[in-house]
Amino acid sequence: MRVKDVGEFGIIDLFRRLVPLVGTDVLVESGDDAAALEPGRGPLLFAVDALVEGVHFDLSYDPWESVGFKALASNLSDLAAMGGCSRSYAVVALGVREDTELEDLKVLQEGVLRCGNENGCVLVGGDLVTSPGGHFVALAVLGMMDEGAHPLTRRGSRAGDLILVTGTLGDAYLGRLYLKKGGDRDNPCARRHLFPQPRLREGAVASELRASAAIDVSDGFLRDLGHICEESGLGAEVFLDRLPLSREALELAENLGEDPYRAALAGGEDYELVVTAPSGVAEEICRLTGAQVVGEMVRGSGIQVYDEKGRLYRPDSTGYEHLR
Ligand SMILES: [Mg+2]
Repeated sequence: MRVKDVGEFGIIDLFRRLVPLVGTDVLVESGDDAAALEPGRGPLLFAVDALVEGVHFDLSYDPWESVGFKALASNLSDLAAMGGCSRSYAVVALGVREDTELEDLKVLQEGVLRCGNENGCVLVGGDLVTSPGGHFVALAVLGMMDEGAHPLTRRGSRAGDLILVTGTLGDAYLGRLYLKKGGDRDNPCARRHLFPQPRLREGAVASELRASAAIDVSDGFLRDLGHICEESGLGAEVFLDRLPLSREALELAENLGEDPYRAALAGGEDYELVVTAPSGVAEEICRLTGAQVVGEMVRGSGIQVYDEKGRLYRPDSTGYEHLR
């Protein structure tokens, strides 16, 4: 059965049956003109993100479940970079071609819901439109921070602050290259590309301990660290041999004939957090989250990357930029 056989209302009805429970602070759930929420006393984080076929996903190697999962995960990653939240709510707008199989849409929706369930996010509404030019998923999330919590910005970094990275870098980029060449979806790097994990807990730790700045890695480590540099009016020094690379990424890079450091610095879509903090705080964040120190914020502007012998390293790309 295809979308055009059922129509918008049929699909909305189908999706409503997939939407899980109503949270205690949801007064009116999905299915009315708008959701009604009872806000907490802490700051609200509000973000939107869109995934477009041919730009953010390619159905020849990205399965529908991943498209849905990632649409929400990339949004939640932005909330993580602001200091995380204990609970969040999402609304989604889907644009699909009318010959889309209903089963595919269902799988996409299941991807959104799985990501929500794993990360304390409830889907409270949605819209569906036909989109003759290609599929898209636009999703907005509202995150409720605890009372007294501080949103973590890109602006607060100071010279001498250490630069930390959660998890590992480069896996998602290498995983995507691998999938593109027909690699299997169970490869750990492929999974990092398909089902990224937003670092909500790590973001909350960083905000609670008063880190000075944070951003999530969507467009590539260098590019995203560059935003902290610009917003904070500083430069940065990064050490190649401190970059967190997984064993799987190193192996895959070797098999694909790719430079794993370039993948880590510029690959993008890692959805890890880059956090800056004074050394005492940085140490504590590393202890609690497993993050690693990769460099230091310095006076000036621009990012210098040094190899293990102290020589300047220049990757041939610094990351992804839309509209360029
Ligand atoms: Mg972001």
